[in-house]
Amino acid sequence: MEVSSENVALFDMDGTLCDYHGKLLMDLKKLARRGEPEITSFRNLPDYARERADAIRASIEWWANLPRLRLGWDILEVAQGLGYRIMILTQGPRKNAAAWTGKKLWIDENLGEDIDVTITRDKGLVYGKTLVDDWPEYMDRWLRWRRNGLGVMPVNAENAGYTHPQVTRYDGTNLAEVREALEQRLVLARSLEDARRKGSQLGYRVR
Ligand SMILES: [Mg+2]
Repeated sequence: MEVSSENVALFDMDGTLCDYHGKLLMDLKKLARRGEPEITSFRNLPDYARERADAIRASIEWWANLPRLRLGWDILEVAQGLGYRIMILTQGPRKNAAAWTGKKLWIDENLGEDIDVTITRDKGLVYGKTLVDDWPEYMDRWLRWRRNGLGVMPVNAENAGYTHPQVTRYDGTNLAEVREALEQRLVLARSLEDARRKGSQLGYRVR
């Protein structure tokens, strides 16, 4: 199948390709003191845990050495197999330059230096046919102006219960469904492209 270079699939890092949540919970657990309640989610973190999380995340090495998250890599392999052009789309924390550096080192190590990367404060601005992202807010923001956009969401505790008609959730058991959605998105892209070409021959524009 011939695939246009414009068939961009955007991949988030934390909670998608990197096991950010799992590693942070594990490191917080190591710092827990006797009698403190166990932390199982990042919602409503107590102040002391938030401070510890900030200290952990101040390290470039912490970001650079995050373990891979299987869910995201499953989706990545399918998208690569279908011929999507893969681009990394990740949020740069406002006040943490270590994260920006560490993320780039992680990408170099795990995906190679040649992959395209956008580190942004606003994912909604970035072009793609598909966004793979675990965070509901970013997904909604990105889909808002993209009625043909496809979202794929690796499931985790933070996005439990999220649904959107354009989003396929992936929990590790339904990769065939994800593949189908990614393929359909390419079929749609091709038919829109054909319609546009015919439209321009007839002298009007298909929107
Ligand atoms: Mg994420």
